[in-house]
Amino acid sequence: MSYSYDDQNIFAKILRGEIPNDTVLETEYSLAFRDIRAQAPVHVLVIPKGAYVCFDHFAQEASDAEVLDYVRAVGEVCRMEGVEEKGFRMIANAGEHGLQEVPHLHVHILAGRSLGRMLD
Ligand code: IMP
Repeated sequence: MSYSYDDQNIFAKILRGEIPNDTVLETEYSLAFRDIRAQAPVHVLVIPKGAYVCFDHFAQEASDAEVLDYVRAVGEVCRMEGVEEKGFRMIANAGEHGLQEVPHLHVHILAGRSLGRMLD
């Protein structure tokens, strides 16, 4: 599958500095910031700086350095937010059925309360 990237999406605007964000971590290839509509005491979004729609797009086109940086950034945010002790949830919504609202790859890191069961 080939992907086209909409550079008017809200995270692209954040990356260009056109709208503000509450940054948690910035690395060479990744940015982590707090979700504007937090669903839990900790709700951080981690995005690659590159123009990727979803994981498949990222896996196909990102460099090894970008992938490594992104995985490490996710881990570092978990460490910084102290979510490992009580546990957390990581979600990546993708596409229409996944109800992905913003078409730029992101993982949600949610923690700080019991998150309920998602799958039976
Ligand atoms: P999705 O449904 O996985 O695409 O989630 C997109 C997330 O982006 C939602 O949880 C929104 O609350 C969040 N969001 C949208 N705009 C902003 C913003 O400007 N700053 C931070 N988070 C945002």
